[in-house]
Formats: sequence, C-alpha cells, structure tokens
Amino acid sequence: MACASFAGSATVAFNSTGILNKSGGLTAVDRKLCSLHFNRTSEYSQWQSKLSFSSSGVKAGMATIEHTSVEATPKVEPPVVIVTGASRGIGKAIALTMGKAGCKVLVNYARSSKEAEEVCKQVEAMGGQAIAFGGDVSKEEDVASMMKTALDTWGTVDVMVNNAGITRDSLLMRMKLSQWQDVINLNLTGVFLCTQAATKIMSKKKKGKIVNIASLVGVIGNIGQANYAAAKGGVISLTKTVAKEYSTRGITVNAVAPGFIASDMTAVLGEEIEKRVLGTIPLGRFGKPEEVAGVVEFLALNPASNYMTGQVINVDGGMGM
Ligand code: NAP
Repeated sequence: MACASFAGSATVAFNSTGILNKSGGLTAVDRKLCSLHFNRTSEYSQWQSKLSFSSSGVKAGMATIEHTSVEATPKVEPPVVIVTGASRGIGKAIALTMGKAGCKVLVNYARSSKEAEEVCKQVEAMGGQAIAFGGDVSKEEDVASMMKTALDTWGTVDVMVNNAGITRDSLLMRMKLSQWQDVINLNLTGVFLCTQAATKIMSKKKKGKIVNIASLVGVIGNIGQANYAAAKGGVISLTKTVAKEYSTRGITVNAVAPGFIASDMTAVLGEEIEKRVLGTIPLGRFGKPEEVAGVVEFLALNPASNYMTGQVINVDGGMGM
C-alpha cells in the first residue's frame, strides 16, 4: 500500500547560521527545497528569519558549525500533511501543491491505487515526500489506521485536509435512503472522523491546521443535491464549531467552498447542465483544481492565515455573491 520510498528531499538541518545536508554540503535538492521554503512554506516564521542569507552566508554558517559542532543543531522538519481523496481532482492538486512546498504528504484514496502512487511520485519529484494510503475515510477503523500510518512514518500530523467526497444526485422525491446515506457517510461523517482523530494528535502539541473542502452548494443549495448540500452545509457548521472548541489549543479550522471545478465529479454533468451552470458563473468558466489548492495552501501553510479560524472561503468564480 505504501508508495515509493522517500526520495527527493534529503533531510535538511537548519540552525541559526546555516543549512547542511547529512554530509555537510548543500545539495541541489536542498537548495531547491530551501528556496521553496523561503518563498512558499513560511509556516514556521523562524525558517524565514533564520534562512534569509546568500550562498556565501551559508558557507560562513557552515564554517561556524564546524567549529561549534558540540552545539545541537535544531532540526525543523517540513509539515506533515494528510489529504483525503488525493488520487484525483482537487485532492490531487492539493497534494501536489503541498509537495511543491516541501511537505510530507499522505495521499489517501479509496480505489485508485495507481493514480495515488503516481501522485506520490510527482510529489517526490517536486521535492516533497509522500506515501499512498488506501482507505475509506467514512470508516472509523480506516481513519485510525491512516493516522497511525502518518504517525509511524513521520511522527506527527500538522495539517489535515478533508477533501474526499462523492455525489449521488437525485431529486428529493426519488432519492433513495442509500443515496442519502452514502453521501452523508463520506462527505460529513468522514470529515468528523478525520477531524476528531487529527485534533487528538494536534492538541498534544497545541498546533495544527485543519482545512475542510465544503462546497458553495452547502451554502446556497442545489436542485438534485439534497444529500450533498446537507452534507456540505454540515461541514461548514462542523468547521465553525470545531474552530471554536479548539481555538485555545493552537488549532485553526477553516473551510474552502468551491463552486464548479473541472474534475471527474463535474465531468458527468452533461452538455446541457454545463451550459446552464456556466451562465450562472460571473467569471464565465469552471474553476481549476489548482485554484482551490492555492487557497488550501494559504490556509494550511502560510502564517498570514494564522489569525483566521472558522472561516469559509468561496472559490466559485463569483457564483455565490
Ligand atoms: P473527484 O475528482 O471525484 O475525486 C474524489 C476523490 O475522493 C478521489 O480521490 C477518490 O478516491 C476519493 N474518495 C472517494 N470515496 C472515498 C472514500 N470513501 N474514502 C477516501 N477517499 C475517497 O472529486 P473532486 O471534484 O476532486 O472533489 C473533491 C472535493 O471537492 C469533494 O469533497 C467535493 O465534494 C468537493 N467539491 C468539488 C467541486 C467540483 O466542482 N468538483 C465543487 C465543490 C466541492 P478514488 O480515486 O480512489 O475513488
């Protein structure tokens, strides 16, 4: 189940004066990773303040370290991120964005193991680390096993992105209980289970970020999606409640509410509905998964979002205004 081993990002040791790889040198990968950290992954402000130097500064720093080798070098590890439903669509884009930022990414999927392993390879090629984990996040035992995998592999969870979701559309009058239940089980109960499990880990260190992928439909409703709208509306209320419960424990909880995004989920809509939907989007097009992933990255990794919690950000081309 586990994907390729951790390639692509040699352990980088940080201290106040320099960056070293295991052999004491600065590899091309390290340099790439570090520049990514400088520019994108500024979750740890100390990284920025301690790492803003030129390459000559690095050499000087290394010389200092050699002379004071007895001093411990504090090692700051890249954030550990779990993304559910990351084999395709929006989840894949989020996993790749996190990988590009140098994170350690657990790529969860339900059935698409090959696609998930491909996502892992791409994350590693971008300088991150990745493992694939097959499991149904609507099941408590699978969620427990997913968390254990992240803990056994990387020792913690810093960011939980609850993205996995399905649709089982039907008008209310024809909706079967199984259609209702399937969507509620994954899209709402799955978020509850992963959030509860992640907050247990994050509470201990009083630090963590949870980002839930809701939907504009959860705010404004949609014909044929009573199950989906109810689940996503529930995700929004859950987001705000957990944000309040964990505000004193260093954990922020926010949601992103996409409008219509080009993915397998919307590919089944059909030409007529697609045309009708496009007419309701002020920006006149479907969004791209990367456009959702960028906002998730901001909420998960950027310290500029540290003062935000319980918020719902629409990424909808203006559809919900
Ligand atoms: P997608 O392309 O259909 O991908 C769904 C992902 O969820 C896949 O990786 C799938 O894994 C995974 N998944 C399905 N059942 C699962 C389960 N039981 N446990 C774990 N993973 C499971 O969907 P998407 O369009 O990227 O949507 C991602 C999220 O954004 C969903 O929560 C969706 O509701 C939300 N959203 C999407 C849109 C949109 O327009 N696309 C708009 C608003 C909100 P497998 O590949 O293994 O099946």
